[in-house]
Amino acid sequence: MTDWSPRTKAVHAGTRRSQYGEVSEAIFMTQGFVYDTAEQAEARFIESGEDEYIYARYGNPTVRMFEDRIAALEGTQDAFATASGMAAVNGALSSMLAAGDHVVSSRALFGSCLYILEDVLARYGVKVTFVDGTDLDAWRDAVRDDTKAVFLETVANPTLEVIDLKAVAEIAHAKGASVIVDNVFATPVFGHAVRDGADVVVYSATKHIDGQGRCLGGVICGTKEFVRKVAEPYLKHTGGALSPFNAWVMLKGLETVHLRCAAQAETALTVARALEGHPKLVNVAYPHLPSHPQYAAAKRQMDQGGTVIALDIKGGKEEAFRFLNALKIVTISNNLGDSKSLVTHPATTTHQRLSDNQRKSLGISDGLVRMSIGLEDTNDVLADIKGALDMI
Ligand SMILES: *Cc1c(COP(=O)(O)O)cnc(C)c1O
Repeated sequence: MTDWSPRTKAVHAGTRRSQYGEVSEAIFMTQGFVYDTAEQAEARFIESGEDEYIYARYGNPTVRMFEDRIAALEGTQDAFATASGMAAVNGALSSMLAAGDHVVSSRALFGSCLYILEDVLARYGVKVTFVDGTDLDAWRDAVRDDTKAVFLETVANPTLEVIDLKAVAEIAHAKGASVIVDNVFATPVFGHAVRDGADVVVYSATKHIDGQGRCLGGVICGTKEFVRKVAEPYLKHTGGALSPFNAWVMLKGLETVHLRCAAQAETALTVARALEGHPKLVNVAYPHLPSHPQYAAAKRQMDQGGTVIALDIKGGKEEAFRFLNALKIVTISNNLGDSKSLVTHPATTTHQRLSDNQRKSLGISDGLVRMSIGLEDTNDVLADIKGALDMI
């Protein structure tokens, strides 16, 4: 299996068949497992072997299939599936950190990630230094001999700034710090986080892995040692387990994730190119546009530019709202990576909680619109967007 290409792994890796030889993965919708004898129960609680389960909060065969498949795809030894992307981010960080530890994080983060680092971890005595993730000197200054971990989103939400993962990982590893990456925007298809130096890779499976807006889910990918000895004990006792049904949806999602992401990213690039220089826009941000400030890093670390584009609309909130309200195919919603094209106005929704100054420092203007490109026909999506811009 190790020499299979990613697309083959995404279809077959991790498959476990029951005695019935089913083609499609079975949903083991059970919270518990029975033992033949009391002795067997005792032995399993001391140490459960491969394919020996105790309770679904600890593990489940359908969940295990998803964990093995995503680990194979990501190129890590193991993975632990969680109830949501946030359970994965919190699990990865909280399981490895203790009071007094030092963490360096990029500042441009998904709102809930920022909450974990800024509010939760700080309350438990973890010291966090925030840096401009695109400034390598800032990382060099901030990472110290006693820094335990660095955290970053390879492509930041919603501004799509790209962090040079390889360079940051070199800085972190030189000081012995672990590199934890939230790789949602780069996707398991386009990103190569492990190749570029990540020690732990976290996904919200809610996004491209499901890709059809049905289920919440998340996953922590890393070494067997980290996943089973550090992350798993924390997660199995604090209750962030993924439902077997949702794991099955994610398994099925992985089978088509390459096709979907490639098609969505192709449309996203076409749309971004077509909109560059549009008179109603201050800016079009897309990682694989040559005008992107971190274009070189984006080309090096991502096979395609991702499924999300950011438009800065002239006229601030008023015109941005007019644009959103005029769209017919692209729907107002805050998910991303979905087969349906979705649009959101971060300043008034996902990043509303932040102060004006915080938003400004992250580059979230009142005219910024984040658009997740779906699987619709490219010309239809482009015509919808151009038509709505005409309404401004
Ligand atoms: C959506 C998202 C999350 C959180 O995932 P959930 O599944 O909604 O909990 C974390 N990080 C990034 C970058 C995201 O886009």
